Amino acid sequence: MQDIIQLLPEHVANQIAAGEVVQRPCSVIKELMENAVDAKATSITLIVKDAGKQLIQVVDNGVGMNETDARMALERHATSKIKKTEDLFDIHTKGFRGEALASIAAVAHLELKTKPHDEELGTAIINEGNEVRSQEPVAINPGTSILVKNLFYNVPARRNFLKSKNVEQRHNIDEFQRVALAHPQIEFKMIHDQGELFHLPAGKMRQRIVGIMGRKIDKHLVPIQENTDILKVNGYITKPEYAKKKRGNQYFFANHRFIKSPYLHHAVQKAYEGLLPEKAIPAYFLDLSMDAKSIDINIHPTKTEIQFENEHAIYAIINSAVKHSLGQYQVKPVLDFEKRSELDTSYRQHHKAVKPPRIDVDKDFNPFRQQEDRGIDKRSPFSSSEAQTAQPGHFELDGEKFLSKDEELTLFNDQLDDENENIFQFDNQFLVLPQKDKIFILDQHRAHYRIRYEEILKNITIESASSQQMLFPLQLDFSEREMQLLSEHNTVLESIGFQFQQDNKQLKIHGIPSEFQHEQLDRFFDEIISELDQDLPEQPFEKNDHIARTLAKPMAVKNGNALQDEEAVQLVHDLFKCKEPMRTPDGRRVMLELTAEDIKNKLL
Ligand code: ADP
Ligand code: MG
Repeated sequence: MQDIIQLLPEHVANQIAAGEVVQRPCSVIKELMENAVDAKATSITLIVKDAGKQLIQVVDNGVGMNETDARMALERHATSKIKKTEDLFDIHTKGFRGEALASIAAVAHLELKTKPHDEELGTAIINEGNEVRSQEPVAINPGTSILVKNLFYNVPARRNFLKSKNVEQRHNIDEFQRVALAHPQIEFKMIHDQGELFHLPAGKMRQRIVGIMGRKIDKHLVPIQENTDILKVNGYITKPEYAKKKRGNQYFFANHRFIKSPYLHHAVQKAYEGLLPEKAIPAYFLDLSMDAKSIDINIHPTKTEIQFENEHAIYAIINSAVKHSLGQYQVKPVLDFEKRSELDTSYRQHHKAVKPPRIDVDKDFNPFRQQEDRGIDKRSPFSSSEAQTAQPGHFELDGEKFLSKDEELTLFNDQLDDENENIFQFDNQFLVLPQKDKIFILDQHRAHYRIRYEEILKNITIESASSQQMLFPLQLDFSEREMQLLSEHNTVLESIGFQFQQDNKQLKIHGIPSEFQHEQLDRFFDEIISELDQDLPEQPFEKNDHIARTLAKPMAVKNGNALQDEEAVQLVHDLFKCKEPMRTPDGRRVMLELTAEDIKNKLL
């Protein structure tokens, strides 16, 4: 048999390696920034164009490279960071594989300019098609600049696989933040399409966190410090009230390297036990310093998952350090997280001139007759869109067969006693509709969630909602990343009645939806931001559905809110104008039916 095994040509090997190292623009950002940190830079600037699809450049003032090293740096397995096997077990740098630059050069055009501090002239290399096209002397400041253009120009599959500009840019910001948070003593800048997104001066950890997360996190930060033989824990945790229902601001650094560790996350989460509402996740920024010999960072190519020698001990130390800090700073349980908001002044009353309430009630109104709107004040918080025609159709959820809206509604309407229009609220969360031989019980939040959902869907697809102007624009602080999300969804937010301007890291809100009922605008924005902070479905229908759900939920009246009688009537009225009144957009039941028979059975 003929020999069939061959050595792969260098450029093919590089491209294969690139597949592991360079998945998207943010992978390039990570590698270039980490190289700059390894080169002991005190100032690092990241420049990104078109979310990195067009250009990524990192400029540092680190040690630089001489002519030979600059050329070598682009070779695979060329590194200045380890020399012998033992070095592998005591790594203090981010890189050590000598693969990153070679991999990047295999899938992009690269320009490298670099100059060591003790040399007169620097060197400039242009690398295209995985080959050095030119190398020339150049007059530059000491340090290194690496510019990466036309990423994946020769790997169309990868290029096509990239997500929208906004999604890629979010990954880029995430990556920038991880490196910047791990090194507060280094100055960082990030510039995107000409605009400066971040300028983070060298400083302390707290300043860095605030620089990235926005000013409002400051008062929630709780310092943490623990020194043991095997581990030093330093950084900040946050007070329980800052916890969010979505992940996003959980940072562990092992020897200043961002890592992911579900196991250690559990140690932190567990320490908050009893202090957090269900499913809330605290934000934290914890740097773990330990003997480099006791961690194995070599198990994953992109190196965010690592293995510790003393995993259990580390878990216990982190858990007790967090508990200790929470105790020391007298963080109290927040049992009232989902507090009953009828006790608060409504948000609108804080910011609007007080007007006497005016509600016109139609005494003849029967919510169950499908009729035209009979002149109920449009300004009522629950007024909704025009009557919509029902569309027949079955749907199935969780294997359960549902009746179509028509069928369910006919069934429901047939059973209603037309004379009866008593609707009352029970336990500030249910609306009770007594009938001759049965009672309908509605969940007010679910019902309103359905109403809002259909309204919002209409606002974003057919016609925009009206907006009420605020007398005093409200200013809210957000992080760069949050601002990015808000501007991504700008059009949608405007179509439902928000009007705002972005100004640096402040959002100036001067208009809100005319039926807006949320007590705290900042909490509302936090809720929607964490919901929108996901890769949204690409299909327009699914995308709109997702956005409408996301916005509808926090805008819907909460369980626990007291409703005026007229509001309760309006809500029921609006519900039965919906296309699918029996179910929430996520398929839960909106109402329950109790027959006289059911009640008799209960009394047996
Ligand atoms: P690694 O970081 O794993 O060593 P890279 O491919 O990322 O491998 O870089 C190769 C080498 O090029 C590094 O070991 C370093 O010597 C040099 N180098 C890369 N970037 C810089 C930089 N910004 N400043 C100085 N030297 C650099
Ligand atoms: Mg490197």
